[in-house]
Amino acid sequence: MVRSTLLKLSENKWFAHWVTSNQTTRKMSHRFVAGETLDEALAAARVCNQQGMLVSLDYLGENVATAADAQRARDAYLQVFDKISAEKLNANVSCKLTQLGMDISAEFCEGQLLSIVERAAAYGNFLRVDMEGSLYTARTIDVVKRVRTQNPAVGTVIQSYLHRSEQDVNDLLAYGCRIRLCKGAYKEPPEVAFPRKQDVDANYVKLMQILLSSGFYHGIETNDPTMLAAAIRHAAREKISKDDFEFQMLYGVRTDLQRQLVRDGFRLRIYIPYGQDWFPYFMRRLAERPANLAFFVRNFFR
Ligand SMILES: Cc1cc2nc3c(=O)[nH]c(=O)nc-3n(C[C@H](O)[C@H](O)[C@H](O)COP(=O)(O)OP(=O)(O)OC[C@H]3O[C@@H](n4cnc5c(N)ncnc54)[C@H](O)[C@@H]3O)c2cc1C
Repeated sequence: MVRSTLLKLSENKWFAHWVTSNQTTRKMSHRFVAGETLDEALAAARVCNQQGMLVSLDYLGENVATAADAQRARDAYLQVFDKISAEKLNANVSCKLTQLGMDISAEFCEGQLLSIVERAAAYGNFLRVDMEGSLYTARTIDVVKRVRTQNPAVGTVIQSYLHRSEQDVNDLLAYGCRIRLCKGAYKEPPEVAFPRKQDVDANYVKLMQILLSSGFYHGIETNDPTMLAAAIRHAAREKISKDDFEFQMLYGVRTDLQRQLVRDGFRLRIYIPYGQDWFPYFMRRLAERPANLAFFVRNFFR
């Protein structure tokens, strides 16, 4: 109920304006967002690298309405790859296709994505296409597959809460596509996604095992200690080397667990979001955990 309300509010323009123009809430967004500028994100990435963690930088933004906004986002991503290389950071990049113009047209979006992937490849780097709400799943997979046939420096994300995901995993593996597995962060109807957490978790474990045993390098994303333990057990049982996959976790979440994974010799990538358009991302983080919401309310009234 609380999760549903917060996810609904994440689409409300009036509430977005109120939250993003309020000094207190802006300050509180720093719990999950590195800052509003690329320089702040690069500084956070440097700290993560110094602590032995890899990074994925995400310039926040989604559902842009004009080609000009989509092109601005593309240019920002080209600049991120230039900066990562210039500053010798151990970081790749994550982006959303609705930020690159998917709502305008899939062909336009594909051209934009290809130009960013080519820049990534020129530096020997990699671009991850985030997965958004289920209205975009099929289109995202199609665009990624088409771009991947031209340049393999791109991968995408699969959400274990969707009924369709096992089929998508098998489809993408046939293309040799690198996948990030996550549970999924959007509000979905029961025809599309498992409504019960135990089904989402069971599907997560099933897909995680397929991915780790596939022979390709994938990202296993979770902040959930039970899922982390399941992946570690599977890798040990199947003798999968710690270098053949990576864990991925959110900036600002369970930093104790993050440090432990690094101490145990696992590859860990931290997802670092930044930019002015942080409201929907911030709301999804509040929605996924009551403790995050309690933190927000407590600090707001303090
Ligand atoms: C690198 C990265 C990339 C992502 N990319 C996408 C994407 O492309 N598309 C998408 O839909 N979603 C994406 N997500 C979000 C993801 O789908 C989940 O919503 C989110 O990670 C919560 O799921 P969970 O596995 O942590 O477990 P949950 O089922 O949410 O939580 C299980 C347990 O994990 C622990 N936990 C979870 N969250 C927290 C927290 N914030 N603080 C402390 N403990 C916590 C708690 O013990 C909790 O009981 C991404 C997340 C990360 C880290």
